[in-house]
Amino acid sequence: MKPDWKGLLFPRAADCLVCGDPRRAEDKYCLCPDCRDRLLSLRLRENVCPRCMGPLDGKGQCRFCRTDRLKPLRAGYGAFRYAAEAKTLVEQLKYGYADEAADALSAMMAQCFPAAEYDALVPVPLYRTRQRGRGANQAALLCDRVGPRAGLPVLDALRRVRNTQTQIHLNPSERQKNVRGAFAAVVDVQGLRLLLVDDVRTTGATTRACAEALLAAGAKYVGVLTATIATQ
Ligand SMILES: [Zn+2]
Ligand SMILES: [Zn+2]
Repeated sequence: MKPDWKGLLFPRAADCLVCGDPRRAEDKYCLCPDCRDRLLSLRLRENVCPRCMGPLDGKGQCRFCRTDRLKPLRAGYGAFRYAAEAKTLVEQLKYGYADEAADALSAMMAQCFPAAEYDALVPVPLYRTRQRGRGANQAALLCDRVGPRAGLPVLDALRRVRNTQTQIHLNPSERQKNVRGAFAAVVDVQGLRLLLVDDVRTTGATTRACAEALLAAGAKYVGVLTATIATQ
């Protein structure tokens, strides 16, 4: 048996992943009862766009669909609003107890999209340099857990072919320009119905660039599933 080096170096979280409360033992997802309840209250079920699950603004409009920013994606799905406990779990995916956070987020992700309409999950790739710095790709961690729950295989179909700037300080149109053409399909995706998976959807620039690469390689259609969706 392969030794679990990671388990030795980073033992499973003993306390609640979000607040550190030692009562986490009550929950299989390493959350204390309070954080679990608050996380569930962030589920995207009401007041969301029926097409992409993006949160609606005060006028009842979806900012993704209103500006056609979802194109060329067929549909978007998300489990939680990117806030509070859900945001903390997304941060844990990158910097903390990644496996436990992925367990907690993927349980809800697997239930929030129509699995029968897709053939495979595709993780959004990281920069190679960044992946080395952080450890695992958080999108791949989520795929590995959502896949078995939803009964779908994971297809590691994309690579970054060009390094891009970090997106944090860019506005939406700069983001789109920054990532356009940054990805390419590296396996045969001809005719497949694919669902991109990532941790958070903000402007959607990265997922649209990924979708363009998959469609250019012959995918039938592409949707996106994220653990969280940012509300502004
Ligand atoms: Zn807690
Ligand atoms: Zn929408």
